[in-house]
Amino acid sequence: MICQKCGSVLNENTRICPQCGAPVEGEEQFVTKTTTYNGPLGNPTPVLVWGIVGLATSLTFFFSWLGIIFSCIGLKKARSYNQFTDSAPSNQARIGRKLSIAGIIAGIVCTVLFIIYIIAIIVVANNGGFSGRPRFIV
Ligand SMILES: [Zn+2]
Repeated sequence: MICQKCGSVLNENTRICPQCGAPVEGEEQFVTKTTTYNGPLGNPTPVLVWGIVGLATSLTFFFSWLGIIFSCIGLKKARSYNQFTDSAPSNQARIGRKLSIAGIIAGIVCTVLFIIYIIAIIVVANNGGFSGRPRFIV
């Protein structure tokens, strides 16, 4: 075994390095460290935030296409979170993933409705608009 701080050779059962006084880290401690690591990928909060923002944006009609993109980001975050975490996903990640899926569906539906709405406006405008129709004049 070698001290990670100063590099001096240590006995197997040594817990503190006699050269520099640094605590000796065994393999058990290293494994515990990697599983409890809570970096950007192990954090479920972005999954939830992107899920909420994605669904909310999808329901705006004008920016539904943007909501689809946001929801896809949320789904991607959920996927990388699930790949990273061995344990069962947290509630935040699970809800965020469901919101992202709902956001993609709502975004597609609202975008289609918005396109139909725009086409209807263009058709009405090309026909002279509502005021141009002499239908109600006797
Ligand atoms: Zn040392």
